[in-house]
Amino acid sequence: MDSRQQCVVAGGGPAGLVLGYLLARSGVRVAVLEKHDDFLRDFRGDTIHPSTLTVLQDVGLLERFLELPHDEVAELSGDVFGEIVTIADFRRLPAPRPFLVLVPQWDFLDFIAGEARRFPNFTLHMGAKAESVLEEGGRVVGVRGKGHDGAFEIRADLVVAADGRHTTIRDSAGLNAIDVGAPIDVLWFHLPRDPQRHPSRTGGIIRAGAILVMLNRQSYWQCAYVIPKGGFETLQAEGLQRFRERLATVAPFFAPDVATLETWDAIKLLTVQITDLEQWHRDGLLVIGDAAHAMSPVGGVGINLAIQDAVAAANLLAEPLRGGRLEANHLAAVEKRRHWPARVTQRAQVAIQDTVLSPVLARTDAPAGVPLPLKLLQRFPRLRSLPARLVGIGVRPERVRVAPHPAA
Ligand SMILES: Cc1cc2nc3c(=O)[nH]c(=O)nc-3n(C[C@H](O)[C@H](O)[C@H](O)COP(=O)(O)OP(=O)(O)OC[C@H]3O[C@@H](n4cnc5c(N)ncnc54)[C@H](O)[C@@H]3O)c2cc1C
Repeated sequence: MDSRQQCVVAGGGPAGLVLGYLLARSGVRVAVLEKHDDFLRDFRGDTIHPSTLTVLQDVGLLERFLELPHDEVAELSGDVFGEIVTIADFRRLPAPRPFLVLVPQWDFLDFIAGEARRFPNFTLHMGAKAESVLEEGGRVVGVRGKGHDGAFEIRADLVVAADGRHTTIRDSAGLNAIDVGAPIDVLWFHLPRDPQRHPSRTGGIIRAGAILVMLNRQSYWQCAYVIPKGGFETLQAEGLQRFRERLATVAPFFAPDVATLETWDAIKLLTVQITDLEQWHRDGLLVIGDAAHAMSPVGGVGINLAIQDAVAAANLLAEPLRGGRLEANHLAAVEKRRHWPARVTQRAQVAIQDTVLSPVLARTDAPAGVPLPLKLLQRFPRLRSLPARLVGIGVRPERVRVAPHPAA
């Protein structure tokens, strides 16, 4: 392990790997540390939005990325109290590919890691856990961690904490986030997919007291079942059979499949968190992605927001890093650019949680019809571009402005 880098990134998720790729492409010597040995964890979310497809096009990777097995979703629809409604239509978005790509996140991360490894100045250390920042004279000068070969220290001009919502690096540097609060949690499980009996596409089902989202992973459905925060214990107390019956009531086509959930081990509780970090940087340290702003799964925008942070950071930091003249104001500029989009998106998620999700989960009977905003979206299809824009592109989208380094 090279003990001196220009940048060391803790966390090989979407934020960390995309930042590592972009910095390496621009000629910065960068190492990414990922605590796991592979990317094969299924609780990461699978959506790559038009904003990220634009980023991939900017760096010439779009066509290769689209060769991965994936599903393209041009519109988002759902079954709301028995009525099929279309909520977002991505077809008119100003993007090179106006659709959502559903791809297992480990495939996306493997792809970015593979592309980054082409640069000799990029290193990815798998199974390397960053444990704390190294400090000298009040400045962060590197990270300390543990890998397969024991303890290590890497010194760098910049440490980036991209280690997700349970960040240790941010905490070790004394930066604490505010818990904005989320009234929901998510149960995450697989059900077998039978194209003869099941709906053809990714979508959602809303019933009184139940919200089920189904992501098409070809041979199976990745299901997200939304529950009130802390409600998992109540469900467990009612028993697994009762939970299977609930699922079969919400989605009767799953009735023959729910028995595949043999034990509670097949059902993972994902705790939803929304956090906001007051200050994203210290001398020598920058925090991005979920470590700076843990996102709710609402809208499925967290991965893309994390990637947008990475793009902004690369745009603003590559040159000073390469030239060895990184200063605090460069890091402040990244926060200035990205804090506002993260906050606005989180506020929108909170509003949807409070005005849509929680009331639906509290209902015991179906309303007379679908809510007015959904009715308007059915009546005036052009309105569907608005939610599509918020989900697919978001606020203040980033483009890759940093040029590839001739030697990279
Ligand atoms: C239930 C649920 C469903 C979601 N679904 C979606 C979705 O469909 N679409 C979407 O866009 N977003 C979704 N999100 C949000 C999304 O998962 C996150 O916003 C996004 O993954 C953040 O990316 P990140 O790179 O900042 O962090 P992460 O994806 O959390 O990546 C952090 C990485 O750092 C590694 N790591 C952690 N600590 C260390 C350490 N100390 N040293 C080294 N490595 C470390 C981790 O192993 C991980 O690989 C969902 C969230 C939840 C809770």
